[in-house]
Amino acid sequence: MKAETENLKSNFNKGLKEVDPDIASIINDELNRQNEGLELIASENLVTRAIMEAQGSVLTNKYAEGYPGNRYYGGCEYVDKIEELAINRGKELFDAEHVNVQPHSGASANMAVYLSVLEPGDTVLGMKLAHGGHLTHGSAVNMSGKMFEFHHYGVKENGLLDYDEIEKTAKEVKPKMVVAGASAYPRKIDFERLSKIAKDVGAYLLVDMAHIAGLVATGLHPNPIPHADFVTTTTHKTLRGPRGGMIFCKEEYKQIIDKAIFPGLQGGPLMHVIAAKAIALKEALTDDFSKYQEQVVKNSRALAKKLNELGYDLLSGGTDNHMVLVDLRKKGLTGKEAEELLDEVEITVNKNAIPNDPEGPIVTSGLRLGAPAVTSRGFKEKEMEEVAVMIDEIVKGRGDKEVQDKVRGQVKDLVKRFPLYQ
Ligand SMILES: *Cc1c(COP(=O)(O)O)cnc(C)c1O
Repeated sequence: MKAETENLKSNFNKGLKEVDPDIASIINDELNRQNEGLELIASENLVTRAIMEAQGSVLTNKYAEGYPGNRYYGGCEYVDKIEELAINRGKELFDAEHVNVQPHSGASANMAVYLSVLEPGDTVLGMKLAHGGHLTHGSAVNMSGKMFEFHHYGVKENGLLDYDEIEKTAKEVKPKMVVAGASAYPRKIDFERLSKIAKDVGAYLLVDMAHIAGLVATGLHPNPIPHADFVTTTTHKTLRGPRGGMIFCKEEYKQIIDKAIFPGLQGGPLMHVIAAKAIALKEALTDDFSKYQEQVVKNSRALAKKLNELGYDLLSGGTDNHMVLVDLRKKGLTGKEAEELLDEVEITVNKNAIPNDPEGPIVTSGLRLGAPAVTSRGFKEKEMEEVAVMIDEIVKGRGDKEVQDKVRGQVKDLVKRFPLYQ
């Protein structure tokens, strides 16, 4: 009997390498990929060791349906403390009346807001996916588009949001909610104006700040919280936390938002992730984090400026935030081709539709580039200029083996100077 018990428990104290060498080796490959490549995907970032430690902790064992002080399970005294810390730090960082830190992702944060005040079939006005919006803002293939009657606004030919058009459409379709925020928009968004547009037609305003939360936290982008009824975010983009979401709202909506997340949409919260969110929020309150975000914007601008000098058209002509949107039409290749060519030399970017793109969403005519991850590694303006030149050589070289080998070598040398997790 004793031997059997020991056998059943024998794996408990073994490390990953011993228990599952396949997964261990693949994780190591991924670490090397991250270390050896240039990560320019605008929605990605690199978390600190402290955050990874919390995510790999015993907190993953705990069920805690409900909220601090009001759980459906016993033994929640410590996870309550963790969630309270996350909530207090989130409120402090963003100057919010209430925050729910339980959403498993940005998508579930948005869905919960919809569920809190909308009925199926209600009219909602959001930004077009093809113009930089998000799937969860009413795309036909997403639950949001299936459940609600979405109308969409977009950007003008110059790449800027057309607030007059938004106002006109809002007056025409009389939405119950206006959704603002984008996955691909390189300029500041005027939340005050959007709030007025929503108020004038009696609509709620939801701002989805998934991409820019880190900039908002450090005052580099105006804070939507004073202007919106609901603000959602991811925690893993510029905010540099674990993968997850959060919802901010005024005190008056606290109950409906909390109920929409649990029991409305989710079951037990991921306490290991909530601990990691709490750590990310603490990190985001430091001067170091402000300096980091300032450098993100400087780096994004340096990349934009150099690309511009090299003859690239940029949507809106440049950037105010962490991303740069490139229009490749003049260069005679598609977003898909450029993405694949860059991938071959370990530069990771993503293709991106430009307004009124002549190509479909699988091919596209643009690229989205972002500075958050390389800035976390320590890149400054000088390195961003080097990156712009590398991108240009690959685009001009179009698969020329010699050029590819040369740039691959340059990427290797550059990333070696900024090692990860060592
Ligand atoms: C990334 C993003 C989301 C979704 O986040 P997930 O965590 O991937 O679900 C939602 N909205 C916007 C604007 C985003 O950029």
